[in-house]
Amino acid sequence: MREFETDVVVVGGGASGLAAAVTAAENGAKVMVLEKANTTGGCANMAMGPLGVETRMQRERLIDISVDRAFNKFMEYSHWRSDARLIRRYLEQSAGTIEWLENMGVEFALPSKYFPASEATWHIVKPKTGKPGLRAAATMIKIMTERAEELGVKILLETPVKSIIKDQGEVIGVTASDKDGELEVYAGAVIIGTGGFGDNPDFIKKYVGLEWGKDLFSYRIPGLTGDGIQMAWDAGASKDFMTMEMVFFAPNTGGYAPIELPFRQPNLLVNLDGERFINEEVIENPVFTANAIEKQKRKLHIL
Ligand SMILES: Cc1cc2nc3c(=O)[nH]c(=O)nc-3n(C[C@H](O)[C@H](O)[C@H](O)COP(=O)(O)OP(=O)(O)OC[C@H]3O[C@@H](n4cnc5c(N)ncnc54)[C@H](O)[C@@H]3O)c2cc1C
Repeated sequence: MREFETDVVVVGGGASGLAAAVTAAENGAKVMVLEKANTTGGCANMAMGPLGVETRMQRERLIDISVDRAFNKFMEYSHWRSDARLIRRYLEQSAGTIEWLENMGVEFALPSKYFPASEATWHIVKPKTGKPGLRAAATMIKIMTERAEELGVKILLETPVKSIIKDQGEVIGVTASDKDGELEVYAGAVIIGTGGFGDNPDFIKKYVGLEWGKDLFSYRIPGLTGDGIQMAWDAGASKDFMTMEMVFFAPNTGGYAPIELPFRQPNLLVNLDGERFINEEVIENPVFTANAIEKQKRKLHIL
């Protein structure tokens, strides 16, 4: 068994884990990141860019959006089922986060809208080569990873964390494994950044009520099995409401699949009983559409 000691151990090197690691290291901490996959970045390698509200770029372009308005809009959108304090904090810190990333060398394209009726809060990353677009945020991850390494953060890839170590009720570290066997990392602070559970059909069934492969076909980013959530529960964390955001890209709405492009407006959506079930005006909102589909008795028809 190998043992390590550090000030902060970060579980998962996705966007949140890397941000935590860089911030801790910038503040003088000795940091280790343990990452299950063979690369850093997690989902953000497939993303385009982060949300920002009241950013410099928005102010310069007179884009009229405030933290208060974004907060109300978001909470209304999620029917107040999201953690209001967390959302507020996320929005309040978003402009500073964009600036922090810019200072690190990340460049952004103009703030964009996610769908026509939304606000221009999407700060799509300018990739090193080519145009801003799909997977552009991989460039941001590369820069964050380089910054972490420059600050002396030790990143161990292919090192899944298994459990949280506790001593007399205090969290003091984690256990993990890699190709050479088991290891333990003792730390003053453990930060969990293992993302969601989109690759865990059991969790999806239990917490969302959908059966993957039967009534849900979604991105399954390998390894996102809710490990950190389970570890935190095992260590005594309390459970909160959790679900998945359903997203469906309707024809002609800027969705990703080119096969959609032949289907132009006006779209008429009917369920498998041939009944119209949605006001097609909202189909440009991928979440509203997915929610409406999910409410249908027979959700999917596989051709
Ligand atoms: C296709 C796609 C496009 C998206 N586009 C956008 C976008 O443009 N803008 C936006 O804001 N959001 C977007 N999102 C959502 C966004 O990417 C995620 O919300 C965000 O990246 C999550 O970051 P995270 O660090 O919390 O988790 P994750 O990205 O899930 O990272 C978790 C990391 O932890 C690791 N891990 C898991 N278990 C363990 C373990 N036991 N031990 C060690 N490591 C572990 C994983 O391998 C992974 O690297 C998109 C998501 C997808 C899938």
